[in-house]
Amino acid sequence: MVHLEVVTMTDRYEVIVVGGGAAGLSAALVLGRSRRRALVVDAGAPRNAPAAHMQGYLSRDGMPPAEFLAAGRAEIAAYGVELVEDRVVDVARDGEDFAVELAGGRTVRAGRLIVATGLKDELPAVPGVAGRFGRDVLHCPFCHGWEVRDRPFGVLARNPMSVHQALMVSGWSKDVTLFLHTVAEEELSDDDLRRLAAAGVKVVPGEVARLVVEDDRLTGVELADGTVHERSVVFVSPRPLPRTGLLERLGAELRETPFGAYPVVDETGRTTVPGVWAAGNAVGFAEQVVHAASGGYRAAAAIVGDLIMTSLDTAARD
Ligand SMILES: Cc1cc2nc3c(=O)[nH]c(=O)nc-3n(C[C@H](O)[C@H](O)[C@H](O)COP(=O)(O)OP(=O)(O)OC[C@H]3O[C@@H](n4cnc5c(N)ncnc54)[C@H](O)[C@@H]3O)c2cc1C
Repeated sequence: MVHLEVVTMTDRYEVIVVGGGAAGLSAALVLGRSRRRALVVDAGAPRNAPAAHMQGYLSRDGMPPAEFLAAGRAEIAAYGVELVEDRVVDVARDGEDFAVELAGGRTVRAGRLIVATGLKDELPAVPGVAGRFGRDVLHCPFCHGWEVRDRPFGVLARNPMSVHQALMVSGWSKDVTLFLHTVAEEELSDDDLRRLAAAGVKVVPGEVARLVVEDDRLTGVELADGTVHERSVVFVSPRPLPRTGLLERLGAELRETPFGAYPVVDETGRTTVPGVWAAGNAVGFAEQVVHAASGGYRAAAAIVGDLIMTSLDTAARD
């Protein structure tokens, strides 16, 4: 028997999920299991793509990120949720619906949206940082600390808050050097200095010129004066750039934080725009994979309740 694969490409869905990372796929799974007609649009660039392994997700600890997402895609497909690899470039109200424009030229519509577009990490412009990110240039001790424990750590300061990162990573290695880079020594408070001393963190002033990489391994941090400090791991603080463009187009209220502007949401991820929810790193920079998946679940469950009550109210009125 010849099996023909049928690809459905109709235009109207009950829910469109923008972004198919942990948050978006988790939402899609709940929507599919709730018998909702849903579409995921995913541009295919999850935040943790530079890392070989995903840590700290119970039962999936150490799984490659791509494998995790492939499993999620297979699970949502089993419940009839469609996924299209494309990028949403615009979104607008269209009567009761939202019209969602894809880069590929298609326009799709839905009465509810989940924005799960994640965020972008803007790395410090120090030579060597971008090429090693997710390998031996790291941002998060919870994601990578265990794997590099007890090695000589450097911390590349971005601002005085980098002191906090240096103190945190001292929980994974007792050999930590904080490179002040663009931060002046006077910017450190007495509390900072006291805690750094108590943690045994060495503080090195001076601009960092580059990371030294030999045989595909980070080996040191070179200062502008040519001094090289041997280090095999460097922690950095990328500047989170939330992807709020689509939410702003819809008029969602944002809240400023020291880590960027994020949508105002309730405990289910409902934004201030009726019919629009957000989840994962789209609502906060500190959301790890397990939080993102949980946020997607909560948003989808709230939408399912909203759809059921709305249709019952309509039926009761008619
Ligand atoms: C190097 C690194 C390592 C990490 N390691 C870990 C770890 O070990 N454990 C852990 O718990 N967390 C880790 N994290 C954090 C983790 O990446 C995030 O918690 C997680 O990716 C958040 O999931 P999300 O679904 O919100 O966003 P993402 O996973 O970033 O997914 C968002 C998706 O939306 C898509 N998208 C964006 N805009 C559009 C658009 N306009 N149209 C369509 N699609 C769009 C993107 O392409 C992407 O596929 C790591 C982060 C980094 C940077």
